[in-house]
This record gives sequence, C-alpha cells and structure tokens, in this order.
Amino acid sequence: MKKAIIAVAAVATIGFAVWRLWPSSGKQATKLAQRPRLCEACGFRFEGTTEPVMVECPKCKKLAGIRVNVYVCRKCGERFEAFYTKPEDPTLTSIDPMKPPPVLLYKREGGEWVKSRKQLGEIKCPKCGSTDVGPSLPKP
Ligand SMILES: [Zn+2]
Ligand SMILES: [Zn+2]
Repeated sequence: MKKAIIAVAAVATIGFAVWRLWPSSGKQATKLAQRPRLCEACGFRFEGTTEPVMVECPKCKKLAGIRVNVYVCRKCGERFEAFYTKPEDPTLTSIDPMKPPPVLLYKREGGEWVKSRKQLGEIKCPKCGSTDVGPSLPKP
C-alpha cells in the first residue's frame, strides 16, 4: 500500500516537473499578451481592450496607451508584434456605435504614424520571412 502511494507521488512530481519545464523549453522566448498595449509616453506595456481607442496608462496615468497589433504566421506559427494603432483623435476612449468608425493611424516600431495600413508595406514573419500572416485574435 505504501509503495503505491510513493509511486503515485513520484508520477505526480514528474508530471509537475514536466509541466513546469515545458513552457520554457519552447522556442518562443517571450509570451505575447493577448491584448497588448504600449504607453507612448513612458513605454510601459500592459493589457487592455482590443478596441482601437486610447487607454490610460496604469503607470503614468496619461491617456497614451496605444494598441499593439499581434500577428500570427500561418506557415510557422510564430506570434509577433506587427504594428501599432491609435485613433487620430487622441482623446477618443470609447467607440460610439452611432457614429462612423474612428480614423485610425498606423505605425511600425520606430516608424512614423501613417493614415493607411497599406503604407506600412508588407508584414512579414520575423522568424521565417513568410508574408502569409494575419491578425491574432485574442482568446476570450
Ligand atoms: Zn505611461
Ligand atoms: Zn513564420
């Protein structure tokens, strides 16, 4: 009887160890947030709404949280940050369904804000170079 308990405990311990080690053994070094936000004022990263509106930064309290658009490569499965989005109106904090959709601005990291997604050029997977990429929809 005692042996059986030890065996169960051993299996549970090994299982736990595998579970603990598995995520870090993956090739992806950084886990991307589902709804990433970046503060334009202080650079703080946090999770917020997916709506293309401005969000208050929880760190510096400025209305400067822009949306980070995460893409997924359909070839190799890599998740990466493709570009940023913010509304043209820097005071917009919610979407009014009765009004036309807000004008959005787009930017790559280190680039300039442009009025069209197409102006950013082709979005490529940073890992395999494939252009067969698409937006990663956040899990509920
Ligand atoms: Zn901030
Ligand atoms: Zn890829």
